[in-house]
Amino acid sequence: MMVESSEYPVRPGIKDCQFYLRTGRCGYGENCCYNHPKIKPTVYFDEAIRIREILAEFGFIHTEGDGL
Ligand SMILES: [Zn+2]
Repeated sequence: MMVESSEYPVRPGIKDCQFYLRTGRCGYGENCCYNHPKIKPTVYFDEAIRIREILAEFGFIHTEGDGL
């Protein structure tokens, strides 16, 4: 069975695979001994921006270039 599309081992309690976290890919695939959470780095990035926008909307942080 050859499943190559983002099916990496999820191992709760084990250290996250740094390579996977950075690139969203792992060369070891299912043989890797590290944890591969089902969230891709781009999702982290989008989520960070969204949280920033929400915080800015409530006035917790300043937005850059707000025209004042
Ligand atoms: Zn890995």
